[in-house]
Amino acid sequence: MIYLDYSATTPMSIEAMDTMMKVSKDFIGNPNSFHKLGVNSKELMESATKQISELLKVKESEIVYTSGATESNNMAFLGVAFAYKNRGNHILVSSLEHPSIYGICDYLKTLGFEIEMIQCDQEGLIDFDDLKRKMRDETILVSVVGVNSEMGIRQPLKMIRQIIKKENATTIFHSDMTQALGKIPVNAKDVDLASFSFHKIYGPKGIGLLYKSEKVQLVPLLHGSGNGLRPGTPAVSLIASASKSLRLALQDLERKETFVEKLNEKIVKEVSNYEGILINQTSYSIPHILNISLPNIKPETFIHALEDYEIYIGTNTACASGEISNGVLAIYDDKKRASSTIRISLSYLTTTDEINRFLHCFDLVFKRLGALASKQKN
Ligand code: PMP
Repeated sequence: MIYLDYSATTPMSIEAMDTMMKVSKDFIGNPNSFHKLGVNSKELMESATKQISELLKVKESEIVYTSGATESNNMAFLGVAFAYKNRGNHILVSSLEHPSIYGICDYLKTLGFEIEMIQCDQEGLIDFDDLKRKMRDETILVSVVGVNSEMGIRQPLKMIRQIIKKENATTIFHSDMTQALGKIPVNAKDVDLASFSFHKIYGPKGIGLLYKSEKVQLVPLLHGSGNGLRPGTPAVSLIASASKSLRLALQDLERKETFVEKLNEKIVKEVSNYEGILINQTSYSIPHILNISLPNIKPETFIHALEDYEIYIGTNTACASGEISNGVLAIYDDKKRASSTIRISLSYLTTTDEINRFLHCFDLVFKRLGALASKQKN
């Protein structure tokens, strides 16, 4: 089996699995209980949170656990919208966001919020002039994805923050950093709110995090007992396992990225030779995500054909298949190109041998499906 869909999700590391098993077995108490078993669980959870806060260089009180980045994004957008609606109803988002952000925006529109899109240039970089132009007194939130999930485009968040705060010091800046964490250095302090998900960094599925600067107020989406924005019984074993996965994910970032870059270059060099293939990559793309448009072959058909060789790649976004790629459309303004994309996402765990085998099968599938497509045309 060759897995090349690491941006959709990653396999859980043995270390993260071990932690989850041990904690599930040995810490059965509810951290909200007053007895010893509860206190033990609470202490373990607090030490995991301390480790996460140190690794992300934020305060423990600024960490809110969620079920994943979709929930973190919802908590950030809805929480800000409801908390600051008296200040304004205007929200700006980039054109390279994950569908979960656009989903919340559609909902907020029904509640009377005005959502505007910030343009990006041909390299996928946020258009700073457009951002400045669109900022208003009523702009309560700006959200720009740290690394785009389709083409891996990375944004200079610190610079974007400076522009936002200069135009309106009260505007809150959120970034979905799900695809950035564990791939490139991230700095939560560049923003006021940041979304993360642990299943993207070899941790368990079902846990994410929202970094919330202490200066930001959010209206809670859930109501119950204890634990502020996320009441209920905390998922102690997931939290402990998340902290383990974060510590491991942040090790050797540079070495891992250099290795992945070589694999990416090898694939680009080979597949660029095929007629009609377009590489959707700019100078801001990180090497872990490689997006390609296929000529006259349906992405789903191509992916299923590779599956016959036990090779697994993705379509345009991590979560949804069969849709047009917003990011590719925003940059290249070409519907055909944006609706024929496949995504190969790489990890430091990927081997050169896997890439060689992938390229061999890519050749077989491309030629077979290409021949079929031209027969159908004639
Ligand atoms: N944002 C981005 C940029 C993503 O890549 C993903 C995962 N596809 C999400 C949000 C959603 O994350 P989760 O699956 O943890 O809800």
